[in-house]
Amino acid sequence: MKDTVSHQAIEYLNYLKEQGISHVPRTVKRQAPPPRPQPASRSTAAQSPPHTPGQMPPNGADALPKPALSIPAALQPIANEIAACHRCPLAATRTYTVPGQGPLQPDILFVGEGPGADEDAQGIAFIGRAGKLLTKMITAMGYTREEVFLGNIVKCRPPGNRAPTREEMADCIPYLKQQIAIIQPKTIICMGATAARGLVQETLPIGKARGHWREFEGIPVMLTFHPAYLLRDPRKKKDCWADLKAVLTRLDKAPPK
Ligand code: SF4
Repeated sequence: MKDTVSHQAIEYLNYLKEQGISHVPRTVKRQAPPPRPQPASRSTAAQSPPHTPGQMPPNGADALPKPALSIPAALQPIANEIAACHRCPLAATRTYTVPGQGPLQPDILFVGEGPGADEDAQGIAFIGRAGKLLTKMITAMGYTREEVFLGNIVKCRPPGNRAPTREEMADCIPYLKQQIAIIQPKTIICMGATAARGLVQETLPIGKARGHWREFEGIPVMLTFHPAYLLRDPRKKKDCWADLKAVLTRLDKAPPK
């Protein structure tokens, strides 16, 4: 007991000394030193503030995709890793991560640039205006949305819908590559310049590169326009449809009349 008291007294004097107080009058009443901030462990420092399930997580928090999102079990560990990812600055401004969704071994994996505002709010790829157009394109090809895989180069929304930076793409692309190794799509369609640059290092502008085949890990990759661009310039839909028909031919599917 005596040892405990003297230890506390020494600790208190050390505390006062740290505060620049070198003399203590006899009348000073002992006050407990305020709690010192505990150094964060590596694991807790890396963690985000908790959020109540069912509530919108704060920016930068672990942004788990909504439970309604259907992700094959084999892809769930990557989705979990993405949800906790803070590798690049986009983690600070996202609402939900958007890992992408669809079945394993689909005929087609569509790859876009990154989530927009609607996707960020829901954690689901291609559900905004561009997503609705993409759904029409998929239907016109003779598929449903659920039969193809929809993904992006970056899994968090760049603020203001700007293009992701080279560094952000480099940080995020390993996730897509891991996903592709598991998904094993028969073909990939890169939509827009960012997707083409990110996945197959395309250097040509998309207007020149579209309609051409490239390859990723032995999988044929078609380059075409992003549906968001088609919304801005509907005249390019004809070219895009020609690219999609080339994919169907490669898959030995008759393009719908
Ligand atoms: S964009 Fe990709 S790398 Fe950046 S924080 Fe999100 S998941 Fe991580």
